[in-house]
Amino acid sequence: MGTATAQDILWPEVELIRNEFPILQQTVNGRPLVYLDNGATTQKPVSVIRSMQEYYTQYNSNVHRGVHTLSQQATSAYEAARHAVAAFIGAHHHEVVFTKGTTDAINLVANGFRKAILKEGDEIIISGMEHHSNIVPWQLICEEKGAKLKVVPVTDKGELDMDAFRSLLNGRVKLVSITWVSNTMGTVNPVKEIISLAHEQGIPVLLDAAQAAAHIPIKVHELDVDFLALSGHKLFGPTGIGILYGKESWLEKLPPYQGGGDMIKQVTFDKTTYADVPLKFEAGTPAICEAIGLGAAVAWVNKIGIHKIQAYEHQLTEYAVAALKQVEGIRFIGEARHRSGAISFLVGDTHPSDVGVLLDQQGIAVRTGHHCTQPLCDRFGIPGTVRASLAVYNITADIDKLVEGVRKAVTLLG
Ligand SMILES: *Cc1c(COP(=O)(O)O)cnc(C)c1O
Repeated sequence: MGTATAQDILWPEVELIRNEFPILQQTVNGRPLVYLDNGATTQKPVSVIRSMQEYYTQYNSNVHRGVHTLSQQATSAYEAARHAVAAFIGAHHHEVVFTKGTTDAINLVANGFRKAILKEGDEIIISGMEHHSNIVPWQLICEEKGAKLKVVPVTDKGELDMDAFRSLLNGRVKLVSITWVSNTMGTVNPVKEIISLAHEQGIPVLLDAAQAAAHIPIKVHELDVDFLALSGHKLFGPTGIGILYGKESWLEKLPPYQGGGDMIKQVTFDKTTYADVPLKFEAGTPAICEAIGLGAAVAWVNKIGIHKIQAYEHQLTEYAVAALKQVEGIRFIGEARHRSGAISFLVGDTHPSDVGVLLDQQGIAVRTGHHCTQPLCDRFGIPGTVRASLAVYNITADIDKLVEGVRKAVTLLG
């Protein structure tokens, strides 16, 4: 168990949350771990780890197949996880497709658009702050179909240029695919406005919610968004699982992604009929244990309350930005009005990876580099950044250690 620490000044109860994460209780390089790489992946609470262990020790079995007891147990746990995730994002369970993660979910939609929607001369809109996984799939299909990829520019503050976005909307655009939260800058995009502007012209919208799910309440029906993708491992769940939310009409319209078992109704060599959505998109044995783990992760977030998480992280982000501002020579990449707790910066002439290595020696985990957003780094003329990204279990002491660590690193590199 964790050593007793001083109560956090922003939220004393956060210590109880930290105690649920075994990995946070260790030292790294002789120092208590300060984990500030939540944008890359989050840590897992005991309840998630336990749910996965229970599956393998008590009812491991394949889903949707057997009449035997264990298979029925596995199937109902797998489907219960789907219900849990659906409720978490304000969707119906038949609108939630289990995928490997955000990347897989975006590729599923891209494949469907390639086969059923996109024609030569059509356009797809993305933005200048997208993760590579919301760039490359569209690039691939645009190239193949002779369609054009249009990019909403990013302002100096790291926000979307909404005037430019408006001017890109026209009858040739078949989809707007944009991130809710920038993984590099923490910018929270005006998704409501984006969706309503696109819908005014009959254009569907896909939201990349990889960086939103653990930090911001998601209500897909209220948003009226057409597709939404997220990854379990950035939401306190395991790797290898995520979801694609799609409006039922869209999931009906798109062709299957992969063929195989579980996604069919009837197979003959002449013709195969597909299972109803969402199973139409879940060919083969799925990541059963991981789905169950994701269900437990969602239950864990619900226990804390996503609104509480959002409010606390907002305070902690403000604390962090103010504290880092005191570091001489610091330059933030991304200073959006609406932001979440991914904070990117450079200090003086130091190289981000040198700073990252020196922070690691002090037990502080941050990410350095381009964060899978090379076009965004090019936009700012930088090779990459140092990124500290927060989750609900971070505390002001983590931030204090980060600031001290950065100062130390800069002195050593100076
Ligand atoms: C991490 C991330 C992705 C990709 O998620 P995977 O889990 O690697 O599939 C996509 N978009 C954003 C904004 C991300 O942060």
